[in-house]
Amino acid sequence: MTAVLSVHDLIVSYPSRDRNRPPIRAVNGVTLNIQPGEALGLVGESGCGKSSLANSIVGLVQPSSGSILVREQEIVGADRTTLRAMRAHVQMVFQDPATSLNPRMRIGTAIGEPLLVRGLARGAALHDRVLALLDEVGLRRDQADMLPHQLSGGQRQRVVIARALALRPALLVCDEPVSALDVSVRAQILNLLVELQARNGMASLFVSHDLAVVRHVCDRVAVMYLGEIVELAPAATLYATPRHPYTAALLAAVPEPDPILQRSKVRVPLAGEIPSPANPPSGCRFHTRCPKAISICAVTPPALRHIADTEIACHLA
Ligand code: SF4
Repeated sequence: MTAVLSVHDLIVSYPSRDRNRPPIRAVNGVTLNIQPGEALGLVGESGCGKSSLANSIVGLVQPSSGSILVREQEIVGADRTTLRAMRAHVQMVFQDPATSLNPRMRIGTAIGEPLLVRGLARGAALHDRVLALLDEVGLRRDQADMLPHQLSGGQRQRVVIARALALRPALLVCDEPVSALDVSVRAQILNLLVELQARNGMASLFVSHDLAVVRHVCDRVAVMYLGEIVELAPAATLYATPRHPYTAALLAAVPEPDPILQRSKVRVPLAGEIPSPANPPSGCRFHTRCPKAISICAVTPPALRHIADTEIACHLA
């Protein structure tokens, strides 16, 4: 099966504030792929590079090197025509629906805009398509005439999702799509994304700092630390038996709804803040916070290796 997305050895760098210092690597040699219909979660703390990776996949950030194939089409260094064609296949849902929508554009116009701009529908056909998209995301048809400020946060995120679905993308990139929403509507939006994905056979890349959120949405999960993937595994495997100490620490921090389970949880201390990507630690980048670090960890970076159905970068794996 041809992957919808293949990322190989991707490096994304930003210029350092101090001109005498080398560029800062936000993404350091990431390789992953997503199959048609598959949902891949990308998790890690703030500043680990997951948004830089997502933004480079949708063409908002130009990588320094590496490869991004969307349906076998290279987009790193591609010309504008290729990038425009690619954007029909890859759409993004951002964190804050309030800033994703033009406050003066009516909801129906915003949803239909991608179809109109690409000349795919107009007039009555466009109107019908917009109404169908409103139905699809659980909004009322009369809400097409409203402005964004007349909707709740959850409804605005439904509008953003409808707009992203208008071109029937092969891949939906969701960057923290529920973190700006009230807790009470998060589950509704997550359920909607799962439902739409199953119905449309669409693949998705689901970026989140919250492992509890990703658990319910994704088939596989990639854990990122300081610009690198440290563990990538089927969701069931990763949540049942996390192999990387960083994954274990993140999972230990997820609260259990059941107080008995919560009390029985093994604590894995995760000390301090994530180091600056401008000055990453030597060897394994996680060694300064790892409770299991051994002497080799500060010297030699562990390679990402396949063990059964998991890819893991740890000397102890
Ligand atoms: Fe910890 Fe060493 Fe494994 Fe890195 S390589 S995660 S420091 S044990």
